Amino acid sequence: MKKFFKSAVALSLALVMVFAFAGCGNTESETETKLIMATNAEFTPFEFVAANGKGICGEFDGIDIAIANEIAKDLGQTLEVSNMDFNSIIPAVEAGKADIGIAGMTVTADRLENVDFSEPYWVAVQTIIVKGDNTDIINVETLKGKKVGVVTGYTGDLALSEVEGIELARYQKGIDAVQDLKNSKIDAAIIDSPTAASFIAKNPELKGVTDDSFFETEEYAVAIKKGNSELLGKINATIKRLKESGEISKIAEEVDNRLAQ
Ligand code: GLN
Repeated sequence: MKKFFKSAVALSLALVMVFAFAGCGNTESETETKLIMATNAEFTPFEFVAANGKGICGEFDGIDIAIANEIAKDLGQTLEVSNMDFNSIIPAVEAGKADIGIAGMTVTADRLENVDFSEPYWVAVQTIIVKGDNTDIINVETLKGKKVGVVTGYTGDLALSEVEGIELARYQKGIDAVQDLKNSKIDAAIIDSPTAASFIAKNPELKGVTDDSFFETEEYAVAIKKGNSELLGKINATIKRLKESGEISKIAEEVDNRLAQ
């Protein structure tokens, strides 16, 4: 009896902990299930750890976290953020360890072989970040013979890997490439435009260079396990609602305001 009581206490404590951890806005009923979002919280303004520790979902903040929260709300679920390496997100979704992958992730033909993608919710392009006084890097062609920082597995890495004559320095995090650029260890860094803008806003000694004739625009979408058309339909409905109501721009503006504080 005593033993039963002890395990009952342990179980309810565990439940309380689960709900405390998962509590990201939709905690009306204890019967709600969780929606696990795989992400890599190193991609401001889409996902990052809030400087004051107070994000939208626990310590996590950003446009994608807010979108995932809306998806969870529409599904009657509670959002839980699972933070991991960018290159682990698709495997986690494939293995069912996460229900959705949202990480400013561009839809690519290769990725479509492993997961399904929702309708896009954002359009971006790659930006070349250089020091403000750099005058010789004006496009991708002028990166030849230079040392250029990319984040492993990102679309910027994939695009520049196709170009001969550029020395690539690979990083796990965009911020580390930016740090090396500031310290003149590399000549440029390539990153998606919204994230580049956010690095440049924080580091006014840097500037962005675009090359529209080389970089194609990229669409960000939500990755889910292949073949789950019911979930895909529901996610698309949420994205449609957020896009049509202008909510996505509002979310982005609010994130920008929090970042500027
Ligand atoms: N959009 C880029 C990609 O999909 C970068 C995404 C990210 O860094 N989170 O590879």
